[in-house]
Amino acid sequence: MAPSAALILAAGGSGSRLGENPKKQFAHLAGTPVLLRAIRPFASVPAVSAAVVVLPREDLPVGAAILGSVDDRLAIRCVAGGPTRTASVRLGLEHLPACDAVLVHDAARPFVSREVIERVLATALAGEAAVPALPVADTLKRVSAGRPLTVPREDLYGVQTPQAFPRDMLLEAHRRAAAEGLECTDDAGLCERYGMEVRLVEGEASNVKITRASDWPLAEMLAAALDADGDQTVLGRASGVARVGIGYDVHRLELGRPCVIGGVSIPSDRGPIGHSDGDVLLHAVMDALLGAAGEADIGHLFPPTDPRWAGADSIHLLKRVRARVAPLCEVDFVDAVLVAEAPRIGPHVPAMRERIARALGIAPGAVNVKATTAEGMGAIGRGEGISAQAVVTVRTRG
Ligand code: MG
Repeated sequence: MAPSAALILAAGGSGSRLGENPKKQFAHLAGTPVLLRAIRPFASVPAVSAAVVVLPREDLPVGAAILGSVDDRLAIRCVAGGPTRTASVRLGLEHLPACDAVLVHDAARPFVSREVIERVLATALAGEAAVPALPVADTLKRVSAGRPLTVPREDLYGVQTPQAFPRDMLLEAHRRAAAEGLECTDDAGLCERYGMEVRLVEGEASNVKITRASDWPLAEMLAAALDADGDQTVLGRASGVARVGIGYDVHRLELGRPCVIGGVSIPSDRGPIGHSDGDVLLHAVMDALLGAAGEADIGHLFPPTDPRWAGADSIHLLKRVRARVAPLCEVDFVDAVLVAEAPRIGPHVPAMRERIARALGIAPGAVNVKATTAEGMGAIGRGEGISAQAVVTVRTRG
């Protein structure tokens, strides 16, 4: 039977920036070659049964010798790469066995966890490209004419590998890029360029890329800590306490107002009144997430007296909340219920789950949205308003 997923592990070639040690993939980190550390977590994922390792031609013998110790259930083939990363991945694709999904991983990322691999792979096997990403934590500056200017970072993410793709999608993106002579620093960038859907999923702080010589001491410490723990996820993983947050919101409905619920525009003769877009569902989810993180509610974060939030798109507010709590905790699951007589919510639930999941960097399967009516009782039963309740579970970062 064809394997459902295969890996392309792409090693840096002559373009390596590790100063005195250009062959960083062969260097030993706490006694184990980077290349071996980078591939081993994939050998522990049952769906991944084949790997193509792309190396500079002169490094094929040493690469093959190192990879000889990987578990036999992962069929590994080493092939010579091209002059650029894009070319190397394309060459890797040519040697790929039949499979449904392809993972592309940097050989210079030796600390990826099985959890991240399974997270991106689940999305690719469901038919969409997936990229592990984390909100940018540092304040960013753009220097223009010698003057630094702060760049807003709410919508900025740092992307990692492994990136996972339905095989046909990645083949098509590379075929078109080759025809155009297009290069990209990551494969998802090619898919984006051709309008293919790419989903961000939660990455891991410990999934670092060893780029500069100065990265090495920290990588050594991380490797030693992981070896002591016997687990690839000892740092950056949300290994702490499970927590639950609850959120509730209610808005009046008014004739002629736009109706945006769960980030989705719903055809309706009435919509919620609010200082922002009045998205009652997202407000409940935000309050639940803030609650789980032990923070004050959205009224404190986005006061109705602040003109910045007038008519604000609540999806952006949710992303801000998520960026705020990201250093403290990782979202596990969202469950929510809307209460309204009208409009009909059911047909829009899949789109709501997807928008909320995307804003939170989790899989749509980790977001549940339900709807009910008030059976004609009270203000909501009379169609005067809409309410929402949400529960969010998180794990604190250990
Ligand atoms: Mg509200």
